[in-house]
Amino acid sequence: MFFRTEGITKRFGGLAAVEDVSASFEKGSITAIIGPNGAGKSTFFNLISGIHPITSGKVFFKDNDITKMPPQQIARLGIGRTFQTTNLFEQSTVLDNVLIGHRLRTKSGIWDAIFRTAREKEEEKRSYEKAMQALAFVELENVVEHPVSLISQEEKKRLAFALALATDPEMVLLDEPAAGVNPDETDGLAYLMRKMADHGITVCLIEHKMPMIMSLADKIVVLNHGKKIAEGRPDEIRQNEAVIQAYLGG
Ligand code: ADP
Ligand code: MG
Repeated sequence: MFFRTEGITKRFGGLAAVEDVSASFEKGSITAIIGPNGAGKSTFFNLISGIHPITSGKVFFKDNDITKMPPQQIARLGIGRTFQTTNLFEQSTVLDNVLIGHRLRTKSGIWDAIFRTAREKEEEKRSYEKAMQALAFVELENVVEHPVSLISQEEKKRLAFALALATDPEMVLLDEPAAGVNPDETDGLAYLMRKMADHGITVCLIEHKMPMIMSLADKIVVLNHGKKIAEGRPDEIRQNEAVIQAYLGG
């Protein structure tokens, strides 16, 4: 299997934010993680991207155990991500946001990102090429020199995709990629996620916009109170009794 978790658990004090979750993602597929607020969705992403140490369980990427790897190493291995709220530098250009983001994600600290050695200058050229590629992929090539403050909300979401894509990932974790955009603007974002999958990138997203999920996802994983309560194709999830209870029964 391309990517899988094996019974992962995260405890914050007495609270199990994620409990015994096993899930697997096929290469080039789109998996949606859904569940009520506080279900543990973002924590699940934080565990698999190395941001929070895992209490128990294991994470495998292409059969390599990455459970204890730090986030920069996981990013370099080929797992990109976006956050629920992406901190963009509003006064900087679209291009610079990708370049800065790329350095912060792949270097071990802010000082590495700031001080440039000769080798880093070479890397910088490569980063520039990767950034331009990522921006072309999300179809923002016409606004690369615009300050972020001047682009639309939907373009900011696409910029967040470019940030995740700039490390040339094999898999991306997208935390609520369509939050805060109009329903009629989500089509472009869904199209880009499908485009990623068509290029062989494994897409995993957290999302609340059900119509989008139902038409986009190959598989849905449902979390509730930290536990996986269902997993299946959209048409299976739609009729799943436990899922209906979790959403309607409170
Ligand atoms: P979701 O993304 O599904 O809304 P989260 O993963 O953000 O849910 O949160 C799951 C639970 O874990 C919540 O009860 C939340 O308060 C708790 N939680 C998340 N992050 C932390 C943290 N860093 N410290 C303590 N509790 C946390
Ligand atoms: Mg969340």
